[in-house]
Order: sequence, then structure tokens, then C-alpha cells
Amino acid sequence: MIHNTKYKLTIGWLYPELMSTYGDRGNIIVLQKRCEWRGIGVEVLKLDLHFNLNQLAQCDLLFMGGAQDKQQKIVSEDLMKKRNALQNRIEDGIPGLYICGAYQLLGRYYKEAERTIIPGLNIFDLYTGNPGLNVSRLIGNVAIEFQGVNSYSPSRCNHSYTLVGFENHGGRTYLGKNVKPLGKILKGFGNNGEDGTEGAIYKNSFGTYFHGPILPKNPEFADLLIKVALEKKYGSPIDLSPLDNSIEMQARKTIANRLNVEL
Ligand code: GLN
Repeated sequence: MIHNTKYKLTIGWLYPELMSTYGDRGNIIVLQKRCEWRGIGVEVLKLDLHFNLNQLAQCDLLFMGGAQDKQQKIVSEDLMKKRNALQNRIEDGIPGLYICGAYQLLGRYYKEAERTIIPGLNIFDLYTGNPGLNVSRLIGNVAIEFQGVNSYSPSRCNHSYTLVGFENHGGRTYLGKNVKPLGKILKGFGNNGEDGTEGAIYKNSFGTYFHGPILPKNPEFADLLIKVALEKKYGSPIDLSPLDNSIEMQARKTIANRLNVEL
């Protein structure tokens, strides 16, 4: 168990000024605190519009929040100029969490309600389309069975668990064969309200529609991201010291009870 160590993580926060709806910035606070409470040094690098690539190279963990179509268009243009560098980091296994609009931009494209196409990075094998302004958005509390356990060795995540959160998106996302779903819908809509999947996993990158923010209500997921980042940076299996998650459990139970889902 590591505690009070000289371990340090640099978290790259992509487009914090443009991409952070529905409390997504709270995920950064959770990652920071769950490192600090364990004595792990943590630095947050804000990678806003026109950030330079050597900042991206310094990061051990990436986070990008969601936003509306307008901000996605602005960010898509800037992201395209950094596509190769970001793809190399993702292919090399940097852990990352990408919420809603950010998740959509990792795929081939996001087709807006008015049928305009916002190009994606084509790093995740998926695409997203908004079926039109006359079709309701997918909004509400959501719970999934997190299947990431199958893609990690037992030392990292040796049990599946329920992720709870909140979704609000017009886009419907469809996964190709080179990505796994983050989880199976227990309650709520998920990727498209049809195929029972939510989110996507590619290497150590996680895309999801969970706003809220997701991590305060799912501390084990936050710890998985920290663990993977530390193990990749320091090159050996790491057991994080346990933290008191009683408040987090209360938040989890509140959503689970609203959804009538067992935790
Ligand atoms: N604009 C995208 C959609 O509506 C993403 C929204 C979001 O990030 N909440 O699907």
C-alpha cells in the first residue's frame, strides 16, 4: 500500500474553459484530492485552446469534460491540429477520462441535429449522430455495470461494480468492433438508448456520457484511473491505500435508490 510517497502525477485537463458542463470539473478535484489524501504529489496542467504539445507530453493522466455543440466545434478544430500527438499518447496507454462531448470527439464524427458534421479524431472506433431537434435528448440518472474489470489484470480492478451518474445528450453513439463498452445499462439510456451499452473503453482511455460529475459518486473508478497512471509511470503494480468513502457511498446510494438499483 502506498502512502506518503514520493510518487507524483501530472493530470492534463483538456479545454477546461470550453469543455466542462454539468459539474465535470469536479472530476479533476476528485483526482487531485484522492492523490493528495494518499500523499501522492499531483499537478494539474490546464490545456486550453492552442496548448502546446510539450505540455501534453508531460501528462500522466488526461481528462476532458463535456460541452454543447458550439464548444465542440471550436475544440474540434484545435484538437485536429494535435491529433497525432494525442493519438500517440492514447495508443501508448495513457489513462484518460472523456465525458460526453469529449467522448464523441474521440470517434469518427458527431453529426449535429441540423445534420452538420463535427469531425472527430477517429481514435475510438465509434460515431455519433443527433437524430434531430424534434427527437428528445437522453436525460436522467443512469446506472451501469462497469465491465472494465475484464480489460484489467486482477491487481488493478478485480471486481465489477456499478457506476451511477447523470446523462444529458442529444447524440446517439454507436460502437465499432475496436472498442469495448464501458458498461452494460442497468437503468437509463447510455450510448443510444437502444443497444444497452454505455460509454467505451479503448486501451486505458474511458469515454462515457456520465456527467454529474462521475468520479465523486464512483470512487473506485477514480482510484482505477490513478492506479493505472501510477503503474504506467513507475512501471510496477501499485496498491493504493484505502480511503474513507462513506460520503461517496451516501451519494452513490442516493442515485441507486432513485433508480431502484442494487449496489
Ligand atoms: N452536444 C453533445 C450532445 O448533445 C454533447 C453534450 C454534452 O456534452 N452534454 O450530444
